Amino acid sequence: MPDTTDFTRRKLLHAAAAAPLALGAARALGQQAHGTPLEGNFTLPDPPAQKMRWAIVGLGNFAVGEAIPGFIDSQHARMTAFVSGNPAKQKDLGTRFGVSRFYNYENFDSIAHDPEIDCVYIILPVGLHAEYTIRALKAGKHVLTEKPMASTSVECAAMIAAAKQANRQLGVAYRIHFEPTNVRAKQLIDGGEIGDIRFVSADHGFNADPNYGPHKWRLQKALAGGGSMFDIGIYGLNTSLMMLGQDPVELSARYIYPEDDPRFREVEGGVEYRLRMANGVSVSGSSSYCWSPYISQQRYMGSKATIFMKPATTYDRNTISVEGNGPTREIEAGNPLTQFQNQLDAFSLAAKANMPHKTPGEMGLRDISLIEAIYRSADTGGEIVKL
Ligand code: NAD
Repeated sequence: MPDTTDFTRRKLLHAAAAAPLALGAARALGQQAHGTPLEGNFTLPDPPAQKMRWAIVGLGNFAVGEAIPGFIDSQHARMTAFVSGNPAKQKDLGTRFGVSRFYNYENFDSIAHDPEIDCVYIILPVGLHAEYTIRALKAGKHVLTEKPMASTSVECAAMIAAAKQANRQLGVAYRIHFEPTNVRAKQLIDGGEIGDIRFVSADHGFNADPNYGPHKWRLQKALAGGGSMFDIGIYGLNTSLMMLGQDPVELSARYIYPEDDPRFREVEGGVEYRLRMANGVSVSGSSSYCWSPYISQQRYMGSKATIFMKPATTYDRNTISVEGNGPTREIEAGNPLTQFQNQLDAFSLAAKANMPHKTPGEMGLRDISLIEAIYRSADTGGEIVKL
């Protein structure tokens, strides 16, 4: 998902977020030096030798701008290798981040013989996720793959089978499960703050630019798997189901975009969908590659109050507003940028224990299967699909 975040601003926010941590750690060390006990609730990082060692596959926009910086403040993960078709970029990033083991897409399988790699993070176009995930699992590594998990549910099932065969963990990088604002919203919902959820709305989209590199492959079915629903709509789908804690029993959908738009010859430019849960609650969602500005919003209507999040799923500035049952409250939940390190830490700990990650391959398979059902319904003009 492209974001409007300016890289410099992100770095500043990152530095601001890291400052209290650095101060806390410095204070802790100062206290140790004087022999006084630690105060407060410090979580110090693992020593480097105990951190899980990660190879990053694909050094594109999201990898360089968001995923790789997430390692800076990670407690349990460190990068040891880059896999890329661009040696100059590997070298440059390697110098900046202290990474010196470089692979390309041809010699990738030889990571099997590299004991300095425990986990592999796949950050390639969607159409390549299944191939590189399965190759990494066969090489004996744990794999976190970017969302959406793969191009088809058949590919997702093959990835899960490969993980089982290799006895390694497979996770999908649904960062929202580790993002403080969304974690807080889920605590509020589960704690009864808004009463019983009656309805959820989820709208996510932006204007795809066919001349912008990272958008080009998103408009090609072979590399993208699908259109707006695969890339950006999946945030609304996955986040809504996370908040509800249940899966739909039926759905319906329609395509919503200008039919003559040349950008959408291979993938859909927009979808509106309705998911219905067994308890009668519905999620009404939309995704688009042809609206402006970039929109990411979630609304949870409850019997007592409503939670509105706009933006809801960005990298660095999500918000919660609770409306009703008293004056409107804006709820602070912590720095959204920590979602990246939180996700890396959670997967590292899961891999170390060889226990399932919070957002496992099975969740990725569920979502791709749902999107396939959404397309089936939209292809018929909106017929209900029983799940
Ligand atoms: P990108 O185009 O910037 O990066 C893709 C990388 O893959 C590039 O380094 C490119 O060189 C490499 N690559 C290797 N083989 C390729 C091929 N045959 N065709 C095209 N590129 C090839 O894209 P991106 O926006 O960084 O997306 C990469 C992945 O990250 C996707 O799976 C995307 O869905 C995911 N993503 C996730 C988030 C999130 O918030 N979790 C946000 C953006 C992107």
